[in-house]
Amino acid sequence: MKEFCVVTNSNAAPFFSDMDMTFIRAESPEDAANKARRDYKHPAGLYALAVYQSSDAYHKGQKSLTRWLSKRADIRMNGVKCPHCGGKTALSEANTGRNGIIDIHVCKKCKRKVKVDMLTGVTMGSRV
Ligand SMILES: [Zn+2]
Repeated sequence: MKEFCVVTNSNAAPFFSDMDMTFIRAESPEDAANKARRDYKHPAGLYALAVYQSSDAYHKGQKSLTRWLSKRADIRMNGVKCPHCGGKTALSEANTGRNGIIDIHVCKKCKRKVKVDMLTGVTMGSRV
């Protein structure tokens, strides 16, 4: 067993994400990530986490050993498929709409705006 440094980010609650750092003993970085996900208690839920060799590695900006993204984080970072042309979108405006769960993306190919429901990843057309 080895000790890993796990940095977690909660979902926005409602506007800001809470960052936290914990130390978890585990067999591997993936094992540490799984334990951290299982034990995560923040009421807003887990947005993303990254596992580092040590807190020193994190503070020096070294690459994480592994990370886990919620569906929300994955959509934010990687975009969705454009419902108009099938191209990839990129995040343009975060946390809009009722309850702040709508993100506005812009298609990299046809340049149209696409509304994305952050909870489901469902796109809602271009009327923004
Ligand atoms: Zn498009």
